[in-house]
Amino acid sequence: MNIKEICPVHKKCGGCHYQGVSYEEQLRVKEKMVGKLMGKFCKVHPIVGMENPYHYRNKVHAVFDRDRRGNIISGVYKEGTHQVIPVESCMIEDQLADAIIGTIRKLCKSFKIKTYDEDTGYGLLRHVLVKRGFATGQVMVVLVTGSPVFPSRNNFVKALRKEHPEITTIIHNINDKRTSMVLGEREKVMYGKGYIEDILCGKKFRISAKSFYQVNPVQTEVLYKKAIEAAGFTGKEHVIDAYCGIGTIGMIASDHVASVVGVELNRDAVRDAIGNAKANGIKNVRFVCDDAGKFMVKLAAAAQKDADIKVPDVVLMDPPRSGSDEAFLKSLVKMGPETVVYVSCNPVTLERDVKWLEKNGYKAKGVWPVDMFPFTVHVETVVLLSHKKPDGHINVKVEFGEGEGKVPLDNIAKRA
Ligand code: SAH
Repeated sequence: MNIKEICPVHKKCGGCHYQGVSYEEQLRVKEKMVGKLMGKFCKVHPIVGMENPYHYRNKVHAVFDRDRRGNIISGVYKEGTHQVIPVESCMIEDQLADAIIGTIRKLCKSFKIKTYDEDTGYGLLRHVLVKRGFATGQVMVVLVTGSPVFPSRNNFVKALRKEHPEITTIIHNINDKRTSMVLGEREKVMYGKGYIEDILCGKKFRISAKSFYQVNPVQTEVLYKKAIEAAGFTGKEHVIDAYCGIGTIGMIASDHVASVVGVELNRDAVRDAIGNAKANGIKNVRFVCDDAGKFMVKLAAAAQKDADIKVPDVVLMDPPRSGSDEAFLKSLVKMGPETVVYVSCNPVTLERDVKWLEKNGYKAKGVWPVDMFPFTVHVETVVLLSHKKPDGHINVKVEFGEGEGKVPLDNIAKRA
């Protein structure tokens, strides 16, 4: 695929490093990067790229501001600054989302809505976030403002929906803090259900404004299928899905295993996960709202004391860019699941964690890079690790039965 066009704002935006570089070349560079970091452990399989690497992002975020002449602009912060670079269209963002953001710029003018000034704290509109379920067509718009009062809110919503009848929910999020975080704590639903749904690997997922959802659903299916295939489930396994977000990987795995416990720090994501299990009629999965490391420490300690508490056979882990932490990895090793499938969005922290696991009883068996973020330097990777001595771990199991048996820890969220 020959890529000739160059994004006019790529230097200031800093999002897409590969400009004018063919997609094949981008894939080669990423494969080489993963190979360099991970090749010393085991075989690195060829990277899986996209058929169409454009407009894959289902989530688009725009900062709102004014230019020197007072015109409303929206776009991204210039890399490393708080100066807003106007963006009207983007080669990797969903085009409908970009069009909706353009309409909001226009409506701000006609409704005389002021944009928020980060220096003075005056003005209203700070950010707009658009999320779209590619498989369902549902669209969420989040309007982030610096104060709770949204003048002419009903008319604004009406006008926005008139131009974009495809919008299924509109949320008003209030962020009155001087912070670089986009979303504030409080939110009010202005229109619709307050969430959207999407379908991944045949299962429906509910997504809130604040919960994490993979931004490239086409490649997410490729990634999840690879992770589940790598785990080699037989139907008997008790699984932990750590850093589970809205529960996607664990729920997709749930058909192939005995039970899943998902662990996630974000409360909204856990609420979505519980709702998702219920909506999909999945009975063998539970969710815990906790720090994944703390949860593993508690589980390992509880399992050591009580032989009825089962430790997992398989741990699926998908930590943020910073990777996992010592508490998590140490407790993982203590419990010694036979299989660990590590899904990573940062090969540098992945290499660090896998190196540690290789020194502590595990062997990497395969590495599969997946290109989730064409034109950017980011790459996603699945690694399969097996315990070197399957009998070396504590031979106790977490019990998942309802009514009988033991619940692993008291803060396990109620079964959906
Ligand atoms: N597996 C999910 C989410 C992966 S993103 C998916 O594929 O969609 C990483 C997730 O880890 C986010 O949902 C984030 O909220 C969560 N997270 C970050 N730090 C955490 C921690 N210390 N403990 C538990 N979850 C954490």
